[in-house]
Amino acid sequence: MKSRSVFGKIGPVLVTVTAFLGMVLGSSLSAKADSEPGKSEKPNIVVIFCDDLGYGDLGVFGHPTIRTPNLDRLAREGQKWTQFYAAASVCTPSRAALLTGRLPIRSGLAGHPRVLFQWSAGGIPEQEVTMAEALKEVGYSTACIGKWHLGHLNQYLPTNNGFDYYYGIPYSNDMRVDPDMPVADDIRFRKGMTLEKMRDKENQKGGWVPLYRNEKVIEYPANQATLIRRYTQEATDFIKESQEDPFLLYFPHTFPHIPLYASEKFRGTSERGLYGDVIEELDWSVGRVVETLKKEGIAKNTLLFFTSDNGPWLVMDQNGGSSGLLRNGKGTTWEGGMREPTIAWWPGRIEPGVVTGMGSTMDLYVTALKLAGADIPEDRAIDGYDLRPVLFGEGESPRDEMFYYRGDELYAVRHGDYKAHFITQGVYGEGPDKQRHDPPLLYQLGHDPSERFNIAEDHPEVIEEIRGLVEEHRKTLEPVENQLKKRQ
Ligand code: MG
Repeated sequence: MKSRSVFGKIGPVLVTVTAFLGMVLGSSLSAKADSEPGKSEKPNIVVIFCDDLGYGDLGVFGHPTIRTPNLDRLAREGQKWTQFYAAASVCTPSRAALLTGRLPIRSGLAGHPRVLFQWSAGGIPEQEVTMAEALKEVGYSTACIGKWHLGHLNQYLPTNNGFDYYYGIPYSNDMRVDPDMPVADDIRFRKGMTLEKMRDKENQKGGWVPLYRNEKVIEYPANQATLIRRYTQEATDFIKESQEDPFLLYFPHTFPHIPLYASEKFRGTSERGLYGDVIEELDWSVGRVVETLKKEGIAKNTLLFFTSDNGPWLVMDQNGGSSGLLRNGKGTTWEGGMREPTIAWWPGRIEPGVVTGMGSTMDLYVTALKLAGADIPEDRAIDGYDLRPVLFGEGESPRDEMFYYRGDELYAVRHGDYKAHFITQGVYGEGPDKQRHDPPLLYQLGHDPSERFNIAEDHPEVIEEIRGLVEEHRKTLEPVENQLKKRQ
């Protein structure tokens, strides 16, 4: 059975209204609606992308003690997506998929090691067409504010991948500095820190990460306690300054990836402890972005999408989040690793409701490009779908499958409501060890979102269908040069 979407409830009403208007106004209206929107009508796109946020970590997604009034309101006014997926269960491949509309296996960013480090030589390949590059082609201003994690060497930085402006940390906040990084003339050092110390490998500690503006380090180590506040300032400044052109604001937060930091105003305020402080500050940040869009009078021309790069880091105990009723978390191909709490908001345009159809961050790529009137690259496989029909209450999600990779290996496949696990594995060294399943484990996610009841024996026909899907999928894969290598 196909999952229900908001279309089920409001579709016929919309059709009736459109038909009525069509009769009254004749063909001039439909001619206008069919024409390409002019430049001024291109919507702004805001993508707020958390790091390691769990499916169960927001008020509106059922957390009992974390307060997220701003996100709760956006979900009421917009759409709450309950089956929306990141394309990987760790940072680097997940970000690559969002920005290219392609499974990470296609861009060479799938793994080995699983994410980029300060000593990594690789990054997002030049031949990839990022969302920012595509939107720039059609007149968008673009900014990336936050954690990048698609390569920190100059050619891989946001400013060389379609973003006019970059402010943030180049990879995860538990990593170290690459001592060879170029520094700005006015770089700020923490008390006792010097350029010599920064350049000295012996002196570095985990969590001492650099803060960048465009292509240079402006602060070392970054004061992480004020990062959410400063990112938010940068993001709202960018919105205020971008009145001439439509804009893309890609806002990938550093948190709640550990180590956790909240600013003074939020520290010690949440019933959920430090993790809750951080989520509640992130919620505050979302509120500031929305308030700015409204004050500038552009909310009605802005699509805001909120989601996360992968599930919660469960092995961090109380410093990790919760995947709610989903199984497992970050690093795994169970639902908790890749299904994300997702909200779409666009006042006056989006049909409010709960969407139970499938979506993926890769679909944001296609949807954003379509909304902007940009060309979708035709010389390569694109794994995203156009979600506009769902957003506007005109149809169901076109996505009917999801491929769950761990590194460059296909572990599981979802087709409709059924998910087959060919391989399962716990997170990193925590076990359980890698296990192959033949026949695969089979779950009916509509009935069993927690993946508890293996029904493989009862449904050999579903497994055959999924095997067929895998075979078709494998035909579309091409060998790529591994991009995640260590620097010599
Ligand atoms: Mg992450």
